[in-house]
Amino acid sequence: MSGAIAPFFPDYRGKMEYYCLDCGQSRGADELLYACSACGGTFLLRDADFDKLRRMDGAAWREVFDRRAGEKTPLARGIFRYYELMAPALEPEDLVCLGEGHTPEVEASKALRSIIGLPFAYKNDGQNPSASFKDRGMACAFSHLKAMIRKHGWTEVLAVCASTGDTSAAAAMYAAHLGEPVKSVVLLPKGKVTALQLAQPLGSGARVLELPGVFDDCMKVVEYLAGHYRVALLNSKNAWRILGQESYAYEIAQWHDWNMEGLCIFVPIGNAGNITAVLSGFLKLHTLDIISNLPRIFGVQSAHADPLCRYYESGEKEFFPVRVRSSVAQAAMIGAPVSFPRVRRLAVEYRRVAGDSAFQVIRVAEQDIMDSMLLANRHGHIACTQGGESLAGLRAALDLGLVGGGEYAVLDSTAHMLKFADFQNRYFAGELEREYAVRSDPALVNLPLSLFSQAEKDALGEEEYIRQAGQGIAGLLNLCGRADG
Ligand SMILES: *Cc1c(COP(=O)(O)O)cnc(C)c1O
Ligand SMILES: [Zn+2]
Repeated sequence: MSGAIAPFFPDYRGKMEYYCLDCGQSRGADELLYACSACGGTFLLRDADFDKLRRMDGAAWREVFDRRAGEKTPLARGIFRYYELMAPALEPEDLVCLGEGHTPEVEASKALRSIIGLPFAYKNDGQNPSASFKDRGMACAFSHLKAMIRKHGWTEVLAVCASTGDTSAAAAMYAAHLGEPVKSVVLLPKGKVTALQLAQPLGSGARVLELPGVFDDCMKVVEYLAGHYRVALLNSKNAWRILGQESYAYEIAQWHDWNMEGLCIFVPIGNAGNITAVLSGFLKLHTLDIISNLPRIFGVQSAHADPLCRYYESGEKEFFPVRVRSSVAQAAMIGAPVSFPRVRRLAVEYRRVAGDSAFQVIRVAEQDIMDSMLLANRHGHIACTQGGESLAGLRAALDLGLVGGGEYAVLDSTAHMLKFADFQNRYFAGELEREYAVRSDPALVNLPLSLFSQAEKDALGEEEYIRQAGQGIAGLLNLCGRADG
């Protein structure tokens, strides 16, 4: 034997198809499609042969996934460990893996747990390669794109998205890795984007085009392009992204050894692609008896961007877009979520299986989002503002008596705190604009304290300066002297 590791790859191939949530028509998956050509409705992808997966029982599936988790090939380690549940029509040569998925759950310290009043963990999706969960979906969407390029022999294709943040960072990174014949373009609203938000797509070599208006205006142009040219659209309208993001649910289930008893999952909602994937992912696991009960899922929205809260409060009668106000959970600041039809459909199914309390949407205040993020990070987490929104959601659910007892919460920190550090800095400096409606709590503010000026240092001379600086700091911090003098 050569000692080479046998390459992981399953034999199973499903029949992937786009199906329209509005008119029910389906289309083959060998195309780039983003809306139903018959009615304009929203697509999800499904495996028409999914029932064949039932030939294996839940225990056998669990064993398969657990075995793969111990394998040494990149494919088995990342999100494609769950190949059969996600996009089982893609060939191994087409799968793109840049180290996405496999993110840790980090438990709250004893101190933080006692402040909050319930044990919980953050699942750090900011530990994905471009530092947000979007990489899960992009890995799947770009794998499909690669398959299309191979099958159709395309010599040129444009990967395009409209985004002010994490979507463009992720799309540009995957496009850069694929290289020819993929060209990557990001459309951004001029003047609405920070230098930090530009840094990732520019660094990946994407063509960044600025247009007047806001995000929604850019999105309309992207949709026009996708409707008229050979263009891969990478916003979450792209149903392949949803499949990749289901891996978030699979990983939680596996992390908890497939036991969902007493588990509550908190997910921030923006365009609602992520919550769609979480609902869909757990439902698939349940259908195949890989888990025997469903965890409870709480979607969280800011009071400044809360269309789903309003829909569920109305008794699921009427959905209307809301005009958003400024939110520190900027990545979730969306008034007309593209994936609303997907959530509506899947939530009905989820509640049918697990009861009404198994899926709920909670509204939180901007103040609580900021304060929760800062509180979490002061206890060793790396939560972004959307992660703060998840914790604010847990606190609201506790206040409302919706969770408690022996329950355990898993909170989604959807990006790395560094990406949203600007909000922390403005909070500390007391410079968050009024429209956020956030006051800086002095107990959470942390600012550097400047000691000595350069002129003072120069005047003292090297040795005397070190002595005075050391003694000054010792006095400030009440340090005890060393016993040995
Ligand atoms: C995209 C994004 C969200 C919102 O996810 P949706 O799928 O649009 O609901 C939340 N947090 C971060 C960091 C994001 O990038
Ligand atoms: Zn349709």
